Amino acid sequence: MHFKTIIEPFRIKAVEPIRHTTEAERQAALAAAGYNLFLLKAEDVLIDLLTDSGTGAMSSRQWAGMMMGDESYAGATSFYRFEAAVRNITALKHIIPTHQGRAAERILFGSLLRPGDIVPNNTHFDTTRANVEYRQAVALDIPIAEGREPALLHPFKGNMDLAALEKVLAENPGRVPLVMITITNNSGGGQPVSMANIRAASQICHQHGVPFFLDACRFAENAWFIRQREDGYGDKTPLAIAQEMFSYADGCTMSAKKDGMANIGGFLALNNDELAQRCKNMLILTEGFPTYGGLAGYDLEAIAVGIHEALDEDYLRYRIRSVAYLGDIMIENEVPMMRPPGGHAIYLDAKAMLPHIPPAQYPAWALANALYLAGGIRGVEIGSIMFGHHPDGSETPAGMELVRLAFPRRTYTQSHVDYLAEVILHVNQHKEAIPGYRIVWQAPVLRHFTVRMEPLAATGSQT
Ligand SMILES: *Cc1c(COP(=O)(O)O)cnc(C)c1O
Repeated sequence: MHFKTIIEPFRIKAVEPIRHTTEAERQAALAAAGYNLFLLKAEDVLIDLLTDSGTGAMSSRQWAGMMMGDESYAGATSFYRFEAAVRNITALKHIIPTHQGRAAERILFGSLLRPGDIVPNNTHFDTTRANVEYRQAVALDIPIAEGREPALLHPFKGNMDLAALEKVLAENPGRVPLVMITITNNSGGGQPVSMANIRAASQICHQHGVPFFLDACRFAENAWFIRQREDGYGDKTPLAIAQEMFSYADGCTMSAKKDGMANIGGFLALNNDELAQRCKNMLILTEGFPTYGGLAGYDLEAIAVGIHEALDEDYLRYRIRSVAYLGDIMIENEVPMMRPPGGHAIYLDAKAMLPHIPPAQYPAWALANALYLAGGIRGVEIGSIMFGHHPDGSETPAGMELVRLAFPRRTYTQSHVDYLAEVILHVNQHKEAIPGYRIVWQAPVLRHFTVRMEPLAATGSQT
């Protein structure tokens, strides 16, 4: 291709209006929401980057597929289409639909983990960790050291520390029922994992007789990074790369709200017959019969089409580039962020950007609110409000203070991203005026969803 502009590889058939608000309206809305972006009404948000989960636009083919949904309780045609689409990519034997990713996690861990077991992962996603811990097992994060440094560049910052994996397996025989790698590493900045790392982790697990699973939510984005960054993959298709990644796995959990390109859904897939039977028994208890698993027939159709659309080269090129495009503008203007840009999101580094706000005054929370007040943008704090509070009531600052701006799939255009960049740069220019926050009320667990906050007097105008 000799033209440098990468265009959105679609045209728009249905539009959904987004609503401009005045700064006074945003001030009032945020105050009424207890200065918590989760408690805003979505209609008061102009560009919503809270999550990329289930928020994307479906294609005309997906909508057409939904009309073909077979709602039979058992043996629906839609299930067999879904199963064939997933098996084509994963080659896994048992494909078990669930209503979303966390249900797949709960069923897998519920069938496999005993108290005191250890589950190593490059980095557990929060629901994955919660489901491991719910079984009174230990969720052990072992990313490579580079993965913990926001400013450090590395092509595969999502990689697992293989020496640490070898050590935990050698030291805990019989206590590690499975090992997982999350592709891409969502909690570690959406960073990819290399094929070499997946292959080696799989080999180490199999030497110890331990099953190796993928948390495959963003498998297509991970395949694209491998194609761009890893020797020997430059001329392979994303499908072929995905097939190789899954060839090393004994199973996977998946949220179809990510690279399934659907608004709801997920699955658990695995090779072991006996474990699959136990999982299906548990599925019937809480999700449904194994040919629908908590989904409507039309949802299975949407996933069957969407999971292959996620592997389309033009789509992936546009997807990864639109995130990198914002990242490039941030880097050019020296706005601190997690580098390099991840697959689905930009993570602004509030600790570096707002040194005048100490961790105890929640700098990432402050930055997220400042972006909303300035331009109606909603991101999410991944910092001390989310991770700083412990079950015993104590407080310790989180290691990083980040604001994640996650991109819904096929939803926003380049002018939306240009606007976004302009708002961030404006906020960065006036950052000294951003106040810290204090907690007015909080729930004992998962406080970020419901906490109510209050801005402190801004630095320089202290009374
Ligand atoms: C979203 C996500 C999950 C959980 O999926 P849900 O569909 O939200 O339940 C698990 N792991 C990762 C890496 C995710 O991004």
